[in-house]
Amino acid sequence: MGHELEANSRLADREAILLAPYAMHSCDSAGREHAELDHPYRGPFQRDRDRIVHSSAFRRLAHKTQVFTGQFGDYHRSRLTHTLEVASIARTIGRELRLNEDLIEALALMHDVGHPPFGHAGEKVLDACCRDCGGFDHNRHAVRIVTLLEQRYPEFPGLNLSREVLWGQQTRIEKSIVQPLLEIQVVDAADSIAYDTHDADDALELGLLDLETLLGVRLWREAAENIRSKYLGLDTSTLRRAVIHRLIETLVSDLVESTRERLEQSHISSPTEVGSHGERLVAPSEGMSVRKRELEAFLFERVYRHPKVLAERTIAENALSDLFSHYCQNSDQLPSKFQARLAVDGTARGVCDYLSSMTDRFALSLMEDHPGTKH
Ligand code: MG
Repeated sequence: MGHELEANSRLADREAILLAPYAMHSCDSAGREHAELDHPYRGPFQRDRDRIVHSSAFRRLAHKTQVFTGQFGDYHRSRLTHTLEVASIARTIGRELRLNEDLIEALALMHDVGHPPFGHAGEKVLDACCRDCGGFDHNRHAVRIVTLLEQRYPEFPGLNLSREVLWGQQTRIEKSIVQPLLEIQVVDAADSIAYDTHDADDALELGLLDLETLLGVRLWREAAENIRSKYLGLDTSTLRRAVIHRLIETLVSDLVESTRERLEQSHISSPTEVGSHGERLVAPSEGMSVRKRELEAFLFERVYRHPKVLAERTIAENALSDLFSHYCQNSDQLPSKFQARLAVDGTARGVCDYLSSMTDRFALSLMEDHPGTKH
């Protein structure tokens, strides 16, 4: 016990020096649902981060679609590499603003664990399949995974994460007048920076977009002009990567500067004051918000609704809805872990839990194993 107390006070001392007063300090955590002894040398949010990394839901992100399925090749981001880019960007922002990096990392690594196979197409199918039992939403499902479905510890179901980590997911499910912790706000902002930039990069690599077309988007054009003024005669792929780096740098720097100004002007000095501020403090400047929205509208039209992406989406939707019907009619074929919950949750939810845990490739391989399904 003495070791734990000593470690706690060392962590509190370190955070008192390193973190800003508006950061979430570990010693102020609201704790876990199931009380646990402190760890001798890992802080609470560090333990949360480790529990997420060691979960099977996290590992499966490696083979789940972000935007492009495996049919597009192997250059583009998966749900896992997207998550790691979000964590990387969020830590950079968090360190610069003197926020709690362990909490930020745990929040970032967890933020997409609730995604089913095939990205938002998969989510849409499962939502329709579960219409009569509450629908399916990846944020809600992430909470279900980490509080119930992951079985890793003899003492409790789920991962028993700190309440601040669960709060991050809750804020994306239900709107509240209380603003989330700055660490949560940073992860949301980093998520948006990551997908805006890497979706453009992936779409260029896959040939769904070309550089000339993207020059019509102001944010991209300004970054490209900056790179071209510094380096003459770059080949297309080096130019593209340099522009992506420049874009991330520009978006992160703008976010840090604008957030810092808001924090100074509003004299925020505690997480409680962050909560009652009335609006998000972590946000880009007005000019950058407009530019970012222009890029997002462009990506929406030209990438997310590209005929090749839509065709893959249809294949995925058919596969998942056929698997849903198959397992609803043959629930005895569900793995025992999911069968065990059917009496409590009902067949539709139980099947949905199983399907949403699958990687894209596992779901597609099952389609081949079950001749009873249509494809
Ligand atoms: Mg994300």
